[in-house]
Amino acid sequence: MKIVLASSNKGKIEEIKNFFKDFEVIPYTEIIDKIEIEENGKTFKENAQKKAKEIYEKVKSDDIIVLSDDSGISVPILNNAPGIYSARFAGENASDKDNLNKLISLLKEKNIKKTEAFYTCAIALATKYGIFTTHGWLYGDVIDEAKGENGFGYDPMFIPKGYDKTVGELKKEEKDKFSHRTKALKLAKILIKSLKG
Ligand code: IMP
Repeated sequence: MKIVLASSNKGKIEEIKNFFKDFEVIPYTEIIDKIEIEENGKTFKENAQKKAKEIYEKVKSDDIIVLSDDSGISVPILNNAPGIYSARFAGENASDKDNLNKLISLLKEKNIKKTEAFYTCAIALATKYGIFTTHGWLYGDVIDEAKGENGFGYDPMFIPKGYDKTVGELKKEEKDKFSHRTKALKLAKILIKSLKG
């Protein structure tokens, strides 16, 4: 059983590969050329399913599971922005850093030093049996500055509940213990194991 990742985001690929150490995991770009998938769903779940389905159609085989991750950060005081737009918050081709800086500027504009926020991760599995989805969430606060170099995306401004450091300041292994992605992947692993058996 091979897990093909429907993502080219380096941060995600590293975390997912790390999680599935006992499986063969490869990014889809090792099998086919990179394709642009329009993320026009209204939810993380819809976008994750779309990515997994489209790639599965192209790499279809009985021993392949295509796994996609759609994730992002939501800030309740900003009407849950950027949410599903997290990857393109600062524009279509924005980098992780541009998006992080845009969220920091928005907080600064509103004089918000620290406010509640949460990460969501939807994992979709496209398989010969159909499509399955799991979710995971991580709650905490965002602050109006970036601290630390670890993780990716909005991690330097996100402080998980019960911590006094940003995810950017935490060790990779620490994030992997409780992240939204780990929570969703744990459920996905149960599904994968049951499909295998
Ligand atoms: P997607 O590739 O459309 O799912 O966009 C995900 C975006 O959400 C990333 O580009 C990051 O900006 C953000 N994001 C998702 N998960 C994380 C995380 O674990 N840490 C930091 N940022 C994340």
